[in-house]
Amino acid sequence: MDINNYRNVLDKLSPYKAKLIVVSKFRSFDEIETVKSWGQNIFGENRVQELVLKNELHGNDLEWHLIGSLQKNKVKSIIPIVKLIHSVDSLSLLQEINKQAEKHNVVQECLLQIKIAKEDTKQGLLPSEVNELLSDEILGQLNNIQIRGLMGMATNTDESHKIRSEFRQLRLLFEEIKQNYYSNDPLFSEISAGMSDDFPIALDEGSTFVRIGSLIFNP
Ligand SMILES: *Cc1c(COP(=O)(O)O)cnc(C)c1O
Repeated sequence: MDINNYRNVLDKLSPYKAKLIVVSKFRSFDEIETVKSWGQNIFGENRVQELVLKNELHGNDLEWHLIGSLQKNKVKSIIPIVKLIHSVDSLSLLQEINKQAEKHNVVQECLLQIKIAKEDTKQGLLPSEVNELLSDEILGQLNNIQIRGLMGMATNTDESHKIRSEFRQLRLLFEEIKQNYYSNDPLFSEISAGMSDDFPIALDEGSTFVRIGSLIFNP
């Protein structure tokens, strides 16, 4: 691990308004403490149990984001410790999050994960499904949920034009949803896009949160 890799990432981010999430999945206590000592306080995990454990180990001055898929029966373990859930992909999951957030008297921030890649392995809502979800009147009754924006993962490929077009599709969908459902809500403002291999393209295409692991821990 080398602080210069971390600084290089921050330098690339600085012309944009994007924030860095350091993805710490599978990383040791010492590795995370090292990145913390460099001044980083936003970390992302893709598994609930690991997030809960690391939140206990590293103290509560860190901001934890859940970036991996979330099962309904695990929701209660991450509220109220998770700042932002990036992986919401159904109305029933939102209902469960709302229920648990209500118990803690908090408003849980969420992103809707959109399937932008053509690969079968990538999860998320199709654009038509996200419109259906946002039009459902049940959503208006979920007072302990704040939808902050969208998240997407591009196809794992070397073809940068393909990656760019997927990230662009995400931003266009974000703008359309903003106009149609959140025009009076300044909090609908985030696009979580970009990982170690593709974050410069994601930044160009309007990302506000990049999620970077391997580039910082072992390039
Ligand atoms: C692991 C992971 C990342 C980080 O990937 P790197 O290639 O290590 O930067 C970002 N987003 C999600 C959802 C992940 O699971």
